[in-house]
Amino acid sequence: MHKKICLIIFFLLVFHLFFTSVYAGELNSRYTTIIYSNESQLRRFNKEIKMGSLSYLMRNKVSISFEDEIKNKMDVLIEKVESILEMYPREIRISIILLDSDKEVQGIYHKKYGRNVDFIAFYSPKDKTIYLSINDVELAVLAHELAHAVIDHYYGITTPTKIHEVLAQYVESHLFD
Ligand SMILES: [Zn+2]
Repeated sequence: MHKKICLIIFFLLVFHLFFTSVYAGELNSRYTTIIYSNESQLRRFNKEIKMGSLSYLMRNKVSISFEDEIKNKMDVLIEKVESILEMYPREIRISIILLDSDKEVQGIYHKKYGRNVDFIAFYSPKDKTIYLSINDVELAVLAHELAHAVIDHYYGITTPTKIHEVLAQYVESHLFD
């Protein structure tokens, strides 16, 4: 009896590992690498990032796949953020890690910086990485974090937090100008 249960647990584990490894992955666009743990996360991310009146910037109006649509959105958004800031870093390469909830984002922040925060997303200049909660993400949140990434790449040196914040908020409020 116990053997049978062990066998079932073993197969469930293998099954689980197989599917998570199949769907976990990376998506590379011109400027970004999007890291996700399952396909539904990626689809949800695409759904939550609504381009609205920025849709005219999209290169493929009829996207081949949702993956291509996400890649296109990221690159178009980064270029939009660059033009709002009038900052065009020579090279920009960032990772975007998709997480299920704000609690996960806050857990990573705490591990990195030892502080408790109520963030739904943040950019780490050291890792050139944006950590995002899929539950809370929307265009303005993503644009704000991308602004931090662009500012960081532009100056290439540690920029005062206040400057970062003022500029990232400026981007958020001028996104649709
Ligand atoms: Zn910020």
